[in-house]
Amino acid sequence: MQSPINAPSALFCPRSSCKYYQSLENKISKDGTYTTKSDPEPRQMFRCHGGNHRYSETGYSDLFGKHGSFKEYEQTAKLSSHSLSSDAIADILQKDQRTIEQWQRAIGKKCEQFHLFLCVTIGITILFLQMDELWSFVKNKSRQLWVFIALESQTKFWINFELGSRTTHTASRLVKGLKRLARWGKDCILKVTTDKLAAYKNALEKFMDNIHYVYLQIVKRRIMRRLVTVKKFFVKGTAEDFPDKSQNTSFIERLNLTLRQHICYLQRKTLGYCKSKVNFVNIMWINLFNYNYIQVHKSLRIQINNENKKFIKKYQHNTPAMQMKLTNSPLNWRYLLTFPIPYNY
Ligand SMILES: [Zn+2]
Repeated sequence: MQSPINAPSALFCPRSSCKYYQSLENKISKDGTYTTKSDPEPRQMFRCHGGNHRYSETGYSDLFGKHGSFKEYEQTAKLSSHSLSSDAIADILQKDQRTIEQWQRAIGKKCEQFHLFLCVTIGITILFLQMDELWSFVKNKSRQLWVFIALESQTKFWINFELGSRTTHTASRLVKGLKRLARWGKDCILKVTTDKLAAYKNALEKFMDNIHYVYLQIVKRRIMRRLVTVKKFFVKGTAEDFPDKSQNTSFIERLNLTLRQHICYLQRKTLGYCKSKVNFVNIMWINLFNYNYIQVHKSLRIQINNENKKFIKKYQHNTPAMQMKLTNSPLNWRYLLTFPIPYNY
């Protein structure tokens, strides 16, 4: 069977007290299954031959000993990407809110590790980059927190995000982060579009100096929330560098809307803004994984030639990660939580 991801993966011993911890020169074999009081679904046991002990597949994430079932972890992840706050999830699953936040932390951390692992080992190709920022609050309504996001528009792949103030500092962290994740071809030209915020220009000049890029700012002017004019300002390059349908920031604006719909902290006119930044980051990672690796994207579907045949699949549905050639099929939460990520990749 074809592996769901395009990166090599191998089992290793996840127990930090073991002599063969994370070692790849150690025989690991499957060793039966078990169930717990809270989870009737069988879990896989492994044997670490070097250290001569058994361990559970939950050892591959921070969920070891967290007293929940995989179904509950999955529900927590799904509800977190359907705009529910942790106290609402706690109410639905009949758990303590602190338990839910603990699970979110473990799941969010695994999402982050998995995303970075895949991007770094396989390398993503960025041809058309769009960046934007969304406002939110932290703790109280007088403290604004901005969420910077970067999107590869051709594959609809959400590359990364940063939380912080609306300054060059945060934009720089964003650009620096995405530069590390991508593979940069020598002769390809990177297209970048953003809004008029000067922070992007500074960040690009500082960190993309050895990469050939063209940069277009879209300046929108609104009066009483109504869009009046859209001006295009070519910071680097000319109109010819941006062929049809690329002189815009539409794709990232569509992603903004998706995020406002899916992340409770980003909803507008609500009291459900964020109480802690750490929890916000976890929810963002859960949503990034959901968006890139699980959800199929309608604009990425490919028609299969079965026009005259009834009841046969007409389209192949793709996730942004499949489009980016990182994965071969949509993934699921269980796959993520039990996936062994080598630490020194
Ligand atoms: Zn071991």
